[in-house]
Formats: sequence, structure tokens, C-alpha cells
Amino acid sequence: MSEITLGIIGGGQLGSMLAIAAKKLNVKTVIFCDDVDAPAKNFCSQFVTGDYDNKKKMSEFINQVDLVTYEFENIPFETLNEINKFKPVMPKPSVNRLIQHRLAEKDFVNKLNIRTTRYVSIEKKSDIDALEDFLPGILKTTTLGYDGKGQYPIKSVKELDSLNIDFSKGYILEKLVKLKKEISIIITRFSNNKYEIYEPIENTHEDQILKYSKIPAEINEKILSQSKDWAMLIAEELKYVGTMCVEFFIDRNDNLYVNEIAPRVHNSGHLTINAFNVSQFENHIRAVCGLEQIPLKKISNAKMMNLLGDQITQYRNMLKFNDNEFFFDYLKKDIKEKRKMGHITTLV
Ligand code: ADP
Ligand code: MG
Repeated sequence: MSEITLGIIGGGQLGSMLAIAAKKLNVKTVIFCDDVDAPAKNFCSQFVTGDYDNKKKMSEFINQVDLVTYEFENIPFETLNEINKFKPVMPKPSVNRLIQHRLAEKDFVNKLNIRTTRYVSIEKKSDIDALEDFLPGILKTTTLGYDGKGQYPIKSVKELDSLNIDFSKGYILEKLVKLKKEISIIITRFSNNKYEIYEPIENTHEDQILKYSKIPAEINEKILSQSKDWAMLIAEELKYVGTMCVEFFIDRNDNLYVNEIAPRVHNSGHLTINAFNVSQFENHIRAVCGLEQIPLKKISNAKMMNLLGDQITQYRNMLKFNDNEFFFDYLKKDIKEKRKMGHITTLV
């Protein structure tokens, strides 16, 4: 029996699913979250609440755990680095710092000779004037964006005036890729050249928010192997420990691009709970806690649908699901428009 107590920063749906997976492995979990009503409160062994810069609360949290991981990437590097002085943080704080900054992340990926969209750093409004070449494009804040937040599609320089963008923040301008498809690879790295890698997952976004995921992805052999190779190369180069996700674009000429990396378990991997012998969450716990690596086996093809905002209501009221349908309610108190409230996975 394991005696490990794992600290998890963040108490949303990903934190919940990590805590559920940990329980199955006899790993205790302590969750630290700034939201008193965090969904993961229902699933962890202990719950500590406080702002992420509350030193007293943070040390209360650190004292209870053997090691620390996190469910979201937007945690200040200083905070993770400070925790790491007392208890190991996995993935390493330096990995998180690199990935949470869109420019640093893309520079890193390009250095590995892996294709990304074309991009340029934007520090002030006039920087865009000379950059017709990158339009149409998407202007994104370099940090703190998720689910399309902090993103502005831009067709022409003229449009900028009406958008009222706050240029006190740093931005990246990315050339728009003419998308044929989006896929993601979820990979769990245990140690040097030891991985479990899931097959590519095909993702459909609506309003820049993930709506559907499915396996198998309908892609050609070249993209299948290239996406896996690139994910392995990135994980190895980062000396990553745990589960991470690489999001890819495929353009109309079947070119593959890395869009972004998530240093954590990922929404597109929710279907791994039902479609594989070991889920992305269980694999993350196994890797960071140094538990046994189990070869992945696929149980079934699957599709997943996110339930956003009040789409959850009709499912909450449903009394019975088919045997191949798995409904997950994140138990979030308030229904907000476009907020991820739950999902449903169907084995097909
Ligand atoms: P987030 O951190 O919000 O997930 P992403 O960079 O992944 O940000 O963008 C969200 C979605 O917006 C992508 O999955 C894709 O559908 C669309 N998108 C973002 N950047 C581009 C781009 N350069 N070309 C085409 N589509 C894009
Ligand atoms: Mg994304």
C-alpha cells in the first residue's frame, strides 16, 4: 500500500479527476485552491483554501504533502519555485515557466525543428503596422490565456482601432492557419525514454473552446507518426515527468503544426477514462508518484462532448444513460455561459 500524499494546486474538474484517480491508487490528495467551493473539494482527502500568494496557507498545504503537482499552468513561477524548495514540484517549475509564455514556448518548439504557426512578438500597437504579412492573424496575450480568452482575430491593421486592446500586456501575433483539423497527443513521461502515449485525438472547437473530441482521429499515417514523434521529442527535451498534452493544427495541405503545449492533463483526454485501461489522470499520478508504469491498452473507440453553460441542465435531469454513455458532472455551483460544466463520453 502506498503511503504517498500528493498536493495538487487547483481544484477544478482536472483536479477532481486527478484526485479520483489518486484514490484508486491509494494516494492521498491535498488540494490547494483559491475557490472555497472548488469542485475537487468533493474528491480529495484534504482541502486547503487561500489565495495562491498566501504564504501562510501555502505552507499549511506544503506541510501536509510529500510532493506537489498542478492542474493548471497559470501559476506564477516564483510560487512554484518557492514550493519546490520544500517539496518536489512535478512537472518542474522551469517547464511551467517556459510553457506558460506563448513566445518562449514557440521559440522552444522551433529550436527542436518542429513546425509552429508563424509568429511575432508585439509590444505596442505600432508594431503591427508593418506586419501585413502576418495577417489575417490572431493576436494573443503571451500569458494567462485559456479557452480563447485574451485572443483577438485580426484581418487588417485598420481593425485594431476598434478593438481597444490593452497594450500594457505583451502579445504575440500568429498567422492564421487554414485549418483542416485539430488533433492532440497526450503523453505521460515516466523517466528517460519511458513513456505511455495515447493515439492522436481529433478535436473540434467552437468559439475557440473545445467542444468535441474523438478517437480514432481521421488522419493519414504520416501525421499519425509525426505527431507522436514530436510529442515524444518535446517531452524528452523538457525532461518532463507526468502527463502533458501537445495540441496540433493540420492545414489544408496536410502540414502539421504544434499549436501549444499544456503541462498538465487536458480536456481532450477525458475520453481516456473510459476508452483505455489507464486514464491520463491515473498515468499522471503514477508518473509523478513513481508508481508502476502499466502498458496502455485501448478498450474502445470513443467520442466526448463538453457540456458548456446551461447545456448541463438537461443531462443533470436525465435518470438513465445508455450502457456506452458516461456522464460527468463537475459539480460547479454556478452555471456560467461557456463555462465547462461537465462532459459526456460515448464508447463507439
Ligand atoms: P487557448 O490557450 O485558449 O487554448 P489556443 O492558442 O489553443 O489558445 O487557441 C484556441 C483555438 O483557437 C485553437 O484550438 C484554434 O481552434 C484557434 N486558433 C488559435 N490560433 C490559431 C491560428 N494561428 N490559426 C488558426 N486557428 C487558431
Ligand atoms: Mg489551446
